[in-house]
Amino acid sequence: MSTKTINNGQVWLVGAGPGDPELLTLKAMRVLHEADIVLYDSLISEDILAMLPKRCVRLHTGKRCGQHSMSQPDIHQALLSAARKYSRVVRLKGGDPFMFGRGGEELEFLRKHQIATHVIPGITAAAGCAASAQIPLTHRDFGNALIIHSGRSRLGEYEVSHNPTRVFYMGLRQAGQITGQLLMDGMADDTPVALIVNGTLANQAVYNTTLVALPQLADSCLQEHDGPGLIIVGEVTRFAQHADVDTMRHNTLESDQQAVA
Ligand code: SAH
Repeated sequence: MSTKTINNGQVWLVGAGPGDPELLTLKAMRVLHEADIVLYDSLISEDILAMLPKRCVRLHTGKRCGQHSMSQPDIHQALLSAARKYSRVVRLKGGDPFMFGRGGEELEFLRKHQIATHVIPGITAAAGCAASAQIPLTHRDFGNALIIHSGRSRLGEYEVSHNPTRVFYMGLRQAGQITGQLLMDGMADDTPVALIVNGTLANQAVYNTTLVALPQLADSCLQEHDGPGLIIVGEVTRFAQHADVDTMRHNTLESDQQAVA
C-alpha cells in the first residue's frame, strides 16, 4: 500500500464490535486473517479470538475495569515494537476503536512515530446493546439526539463533559441553523468542524472548517456532491487533517487554512 513507511509495518486499529462474532465487519475479518500479530483487549470475546489464524502472534493487553495488565504507555511501546518487527499489526479493540477505549491516543502515538495506521470501525456498545435489547436510540417521537458519555473522567469519577463532540446527521441543509444555535449556546466561532460526504466510500470527501464557516462550506458541498453528509463539531476534528489515502480523499478548501491557523 502506498502509505507504508519504509522499514516499518502498518497498524490497523480494528473494532471488534460488542462481543457477538457475527457483528465483526467483513473488513475486520479480512484484516484479522492477514495479521502477523494481534494485540487485543480484555473485551475481545473467546469466540473472536478463536477465529484468528493459527500462525498469528497474540498479545493480550488486558485492560478491564481499572485492572490494567499493561499500562497505556506500555501498549504504545508494544505497538511500536510490533510495527518494527512485523508488516501487518492489528490492534483489536472492543466495540469501535474511537468510542472511548483510547484508540485516539494510540493513533496519535503511531502518527508521531510515522507508522502508517488505518482504522476499521466496529459496532459500538451503544448500537450493539440497543439493538440486542430492541431499544431505538433515536425515535422521531421520543428523542432526536443521542449523547454518549464516559462514566469515568481522568480522575476516575463521572463528570459532565464541557466539550462534547457533536455529530449532526441530516445536517447539510440545516448548517446555517446549526451554526446559529451553537453560537447562541456560547460556542466559539473558531470551534473546529469536520464535514464528511460519502463517508467510507471511494468518493469520500473530508473537509475541515470552523463553526462560523460551516454554512458556506455546507452550501458548496451540496452543489459539488451528491451523497449523504455528516457534520462533526469539536476539537477532535483536528485529527481529520490526516486521512487514510487508501480509501479517502482529503480535500482542502480555503476554510481549511482558517481552521488550521
Ligand atoms: N470501544 C468500546 C467501548 C470501550 S469502554 C465500544 O465502542 O463499545 C468499555 C465499556 O463499553 C464497558 O465498560 C461497557 O460500558 C461498554 N461495553 C462494551 N461492550 C459491551 C457489551 N457487550 N455489553 C455491555 N456493555 C459493553
